[in-house]
Amino acid sequence: MLSSNGFELYNPSYLVASIPNSDLSSTLQDQYLYDSQVDISETGEVVANFFKCNPLLPGVILTQDQDFFGMISRQRFLERLSRPYGIELFLKRPLKLLYRWEKKEVLMLSGSTPILEATEMALQRLPDLVYEPIVVQVEPQSYRLIDMYQLLLAQSKIHKLANQFLHQLYHELQIQASLDGLTQVANRRFFDQYFDQKWLQLKSTEFPLSLIFADVDYFKAYNDSYGHQAGDDCLKQVAQVITKTVTLDQGLVARYGGEEFVVVLPKIGHKQAILIAEKVRENIKAIQLHHPNSSISSQITLSLGVATVEFGNPEIMNKIKNPGDLIIAADQALYQAKNQGRDQVVSSSMRHPYLWVMSP
Ligand code: GH3
Ligand code: MG
Ligand code: MG
Repeated sequence: MLSSNGFELYNPSYLVASIPNSDLSSTLQDQYLYDSQVDISETGEVVANFFKCNPLLPGVILTQDQDFFGMISRQRFLERLSRPYGIELFLKRPLKLLYRWEKKEVLMLSGSTPILEATEMALQRLPDLVYEPIVVQVEPQSYRLIDMYQLLLAQSKIHKLANQFLHQLYHELQIQASLDGLTQVANRRFFDQYFDQKWLQLKSTEFPLSLIFADVDYFKAYNDSYGHQAGDDCLKQVAQVITKTVTLDQGLVARYGGEEFVVVLPKIGHKQAILIAEKVRENIKAIQLHHPNSSISSQITLSLGVATVEFGNPEIMNKIKNPGDLIIAADQALYQAKNQGRDQVVSSSMRHPYLWVMSP
């Protein structure tokens, strides 16, 4: 809405709604800028009217024959008027006279100045000038004003955005750092953390914690037959099958190294862990990845070892004292599965640690 004085009128709620969205690359000309200009041949009364009609106007740009001459802020203008004889001296006289007394250093910046840079420069001004509005040159002969309050608001928005951005980036980097580059399941580093953390969480409870080790059978021969690239593709598919078989709420699938995967199953007992391992073995066979040089099958197969710790069971806790002991137990079961012919699940029963139970 334009007033009779030729500048826009704003009420505070409109102004708040009109604050533009700032992003990290925002510049001064992306912000709300005031356009209020008065020729210096006019009297102080004209400026007083500007300020009266628009309570938010931070200042006016003074021009001489349409060229930039200077700027007077609302605060300076009102201070000047409130001095003895201020009204008599300045209200009825040309602005040129007033400005001679008032002349202060004006900060003028190009419209393309980034908000962060503009704020820094604005805050480096002398203490009595620090809240003065900034003159923004939007085009060679075109000037606007930005209020320091709005500039600081834009700066704080950018600060918030930058923080959110860094948080997001950190989160994504953390995820990236936890994943195995080839198979996109959790990597060894994440497995180590997760497994230790689950151990700590469960060790003072009665819940069990199970571990499955799964190793591709005769994988070296697969590489030799089809090449390393095909071997990589095969590992990706194996990882996918295991991930699809073990639901997220059951636990974590990770690449332990090479062609060996590990599944951590918190609060899952031994019997259920064996069933899950069996399901993984069956599902791998079901995708029928041809393996021409396996001694036991024409398809890719897995051997799996399962071990479980029951934290409420003192007999078991006597043998499995730390996470490393559980890893050894599951690994020994896997070794047993390999020795007994591969393509099978072997369980290490913690009640009878030396009794190896072959799956049916
Ligand atoms: P076993 O049935 O006893 O497990 O025999 P294997 O051939 O699978 O085991 P071995 O340890 O002799 O060989 C593992 C092979 O896995 C050798 C190695 O080149 C291959 N391998 C390990 N990591 C990768 C990988 O990231 N990509 C590919 N393509 N091959 C890998
Ligand atoms: Mg292998
Ligand atoms: Mg291996």
